[in-house]
Order: sequence, then structure tokens, then C-alpha cells
Amino acid sequence: MSLSSVRGRFAPSPTGGFHLGSALVALVSWLSVRSQGGVYIWRVEDIDGPRVIPGASDQQMTEARWLGIDWDEGPDIGGPLSPYAQSERGNFYELALAKLARSNGLFPCALSRTDLRELASAPHSRLGAPAYSKDLRPSDLWPDWFETHNTAANPEAALRFKVDDGLVSFRDLVMGDVAETVSETVGDFVLKRRDGVYAYQLAVVVDDLDMGVTEVVRGADLLDSTARQIQLINALGGTVPAYAHLPLIVDGTGEKLSKRNAALTLSELKAADIHPQAIVSWLAHSIGLAESLQPVAPSDLVEHFAWERIRSTNISIPADLTQQLRLLST
Ligand code: GLU
Repeated sequence: MSLSSVRGRFAPSPTGGFHLGSALVALVSWLSVRSQGGVYIWRVEDIDGPRVIPGASDQQMTEARWLGIDWDEGPDIGGPLSPYAQSERGNFYELALAKLARSNGLFPCALSRTDLRELASAPHSRLGAPAYSKDLRPSDLWPDWFETHNTAANPEAALRFKVDDGLVSFRDLVMGDVAETVSETVGDFVLKRRDGVYAYQLAVVVDDLDMGVTEVVRGADLLDSTARQIQLINALGGTVPAYAHLPLIVDGTGEKLSKRNAALTLSELKAADIHPQAIVSWLAHSIGLAESLQPVAPSDLVEHFAWERIRSTNISIPADLTQQLRLLST
């Protein structure tokens, strides 16, 4: 048993290869947990069925292990809070939805995206779509609406969360103070889509609460989901974890690494005979955890890990990265 109550997690979506950006998140989240003697969880975020690539999850786990990262609970080794794959956790999401419905925090919405665009008079929020106005909430709901909705063969309505008007503020361990008024940026957001698919915001919050996660480390592209998640955690009566959003690794065009950068996936680097300690070295150096480029294993970095050392600005891939990694591999 661990003496620490720290619980961290790595929650990849098996929708593509394991690239350097994901490896950075895995490395830093792992170092934080290991440096505090906590429990590290691997959770598969395979909620969006059609985007899941068969075999990708196993490959991500194999490559993380190759890098030197291990976990204490996960889909392959089990654990006290299994299952660790979101596709198997629908009953937990339903319990949370039922709880929100009981506390009047949820409502059905039959409007399509096109309807919403046409209805919108508000200026577009920074997320590109108009914020969902609370004027669109049903004025009253019949007592058993949630049960009726859930048992209908084809409910034809999404379930939306009633956001409150307050300012949400939090201190991110990397990005500093963040504040957002969710009612202005996104408004009442979807927790379950019309087609029955649970939204990322719901699944991630329910899983982090049920798995007792105390710190959430992920890419800065998810920073603007955090205020929404905090509101949801509060509505569910949970404890808000610590957040750390890491800078992104970007390619020559300034874009986050994606499927287009296939050469920078761990499987390609491995196939090119790059040593895992070369990759860890480059990641650690780039994020501020190593002063020089020297082959290093994740376990060598545990002792000197500190959030204050982590940089907050995006990391550009140098044009000669593969050469640098090759040199470090010899
Ligand atoms: N599944 C998300 C991803 O792969 C991470 C979600 C999270 O950490 O909250 O980017």
C-alpha cells in the first residue's frame, strides 16, 4: 500500500499513434506521482467509438513501458477501481447523470447545431460557437423526465448541464492563475449526445472522481475544458483535483503534433533505432527537467522533479531532432 494519498493518471485516447506530445504528458504526470510516492493510473479514453483505432491502446501501453513508465492500476493489470476503459464505464456516467437530474442540474435539449446557430443572437464565444443561452432551457420539466428519456428507444435529445453564472478560477501548477465564466464562453454544455454517446467532459470528471484522482496533468489544449469540469465536479459534490497543463510540442508550422507527424511517434522512432533514454532526455531537457542532453531513464528524474522547473511555453520540434536523438542513442 502506498503511504501517500496522491493519485495521478494518464488518460490517452486510442485514436492515433503515441507521439512525443503524449509521451511528454505521460512522463511528467508519472514523475509527479512517483516523486510523491503516489499511485499512478492508466485510463483508456475510448469513449468516442468510431475514432478508436483497434490495437492503438495496447500499442500505447507497450510504448510507454518501453520508455520506462509503469502504472499501478490500469486496463491490463486491473486494480480496485476497474474497469479502466471508458467504453466499459457507462453505468458510472448514468449514475452521475441521474444525480444531476435529481438536483435539477440537467435538462434535455432537442435543438440541433443548426437550430442553435440560427437562434443565437449573442456574439460568438472564443470556442467558435455561440454560448448556449440559459433562455433555451425548458421552463419546467415533468417529474420523471429523466427516467422517460433514458428508457425511450430514441430520445432525440441531448442532455445538457446547467452551468452557473459565476466566475470559475483556479491556479494551474504550470499555467498559473486561470479564470473563466463558463456561462459566457460555452454556456450549458452537452453531457450526453443525442446519439447516446457520453461527452468527454462528463466521462473525464466522473472517472477522475470515482478513481480518486488528486492531480490532473495533461496538454494545454485542454486548459479551456477545466472551468467546465470544475463546475461539474462541484455539482456532483466532488473534490476538485490539482491541475497542471503542459505546453504543447509543436511542429514547424506551430501546430500541435498530430497524425501528420507520423515520424515523431514512438513506434517510428523505435523502428529508426532511437533509444528510449534519448527520447526521455530530449523531453526532460525541453520541458525544463534536465540541464543537458544526456541519455536518462524516467526513474533517474524522480528525485529532482519539481513543478517550478516546468516551462509553460510551447516547445518547437527542432529540424534536426532525429539526428539529435540518434546521437544520444549511440
Ligand atoms: N483523452 C485525452 C487525450 O488523449 C486526455 C484527457 C484528459 O487528460 O483529461 O488528450
